Amino acid sequence: MTYDASAHPENLSPDTLVVAAGRPGREHDAPVNPPIVLSSTYVGTGTVVDGDRAYGRYSNPTWDPLEEALSALEGATLPGLIFSSGLAAVSAALSLVPSGGVLVMPIHSYQGALVMAQELSEKGMFTLRTVDIANNDEVIAALTGSGEKAADMLWLESPTNPMLEVADIHVLARSAQAVGAIVVTDNTFSTPLVQKPLELGSDIVLHSVTKYLSGHSDVIMGALVTSSPELRATLLHHRSIHGAIAGPFEAWLALRGLRTLALRVERSQASALTLATRLDAHDGVSRVLFPGLATDPGHVRATAQMTGYGSVLCIEIAGGEAAAEAVVEALRLWTPATSLGGVESLIERRRRHANEPVSVPANLLRLSVGIENVEDLWSDLEQALATVGTAE
Ligand SMILES: *Cc1c(COP(=O)(O)O)cnc(C)c1O
Repeated sequence: MTYDASAHPENLSPDTLVVAAGRPGREHDAPVNPPIVLSSTYVGTGTVVDGDRAYGRYSNPTWDPLEEALSALEGATLPGLIFSSGLAAVSAALSLVPSGGVLVMPIHSYQGALVMAQELSEKGMFTLRTVDIANNDEVIAALTGSGEKAADMLWLESPTNPMLEVADIHVLARSAQAVGAIVVTDNTFSTPLVQKPLELGSDIVLHSVTKYLSGHSDVIMGALVTSSPELRATLLHHRSIHGAIAGPFEAWLALRGLRTLALRVERSQASALTLATRLDAHDGVSRVLFPGLATDPGHVRATAQMTGYGSVLCIEIAGGEAAAEAVVEALRLWTPATSLGGVESLIERRRRHANEPVSVPANLLRLSVGIENVEDLWSDLEQALATVGTAE
């Protein structure tokens, strides 16, 4: 069973690649979709050499087409690496910080990544410097160390979760590389259709495949993509030895979900912009955070480095924390749940999580806009906001 990535012309658009990449070769009677290979080990004799499958923790043929597709989408020269979860990918990426080194990370990073970095730094593995990632001067000062040790890794997430701050990826990546730091960008919110961190100067791109890439809230998976042979070899070794591998069934589901990514992103982004604009004009909402709004502090930067603005937006409810909870409870179509990037619209008050940074307002709701009819989504929000009233 082979698939042939080189069968595709180089210049395919990303919205074609999501459909065409990672298909089996065109032999007569070949399946159109790659099969699921359920095997924990592979037949072999003699000395095991590089490239041998050998054992199911090192490789699985079901991973290959997905890893090839993710690489093609991010514009990398080497296949991606999938992991058992987004956080397993975070763990592998953080292992590249040398012991005693320095990691610079946004204060509003994905909460799990931040907790992991904090715990590792408390154990003395490395020094953690958290920054406002939208503030170039502050990030560059943390990178150079201003007299202290310079950074070994810059962690970027843009837009951030959930404050939707936009990092100046190109400028920050150049500043990081000037001090010899590896740049990792969590591209989960944007997807490779909207933002290409490798082209903007990042060394490694990280995805929670759980979100938009698989797109149906039925898979937990992560991925790392890089064009550096050295970094990829180290990350692959980490995955093989620490064992955070994806199941073949999940890999198959994720590739199946990826096929419709372009349609889902196009639809949900358009709806997010419509909803953000209407919510911005609503009395029950004191603030909308969405880089697609011309008044948003990240708008100019996002317009320069993204092809759209994503489909996560946040609102602050005028009545405060209790009113925000009441809005969530009054909704009928929107599902109250954590996570994002699925076909169904989800909403959540982020501070319901005890370890969410207190700099995230208690009345903030994060909306992951799905692919339902936008007027149905709006009517539901309108009726829920009306139930609660607009009193401050
Ligand atoms: C969900 C998420 C992660 C973690 O991914 P899991 O698949 O849940 O382990 C990392 N980064 C971002 C931005 C996320 O949204």
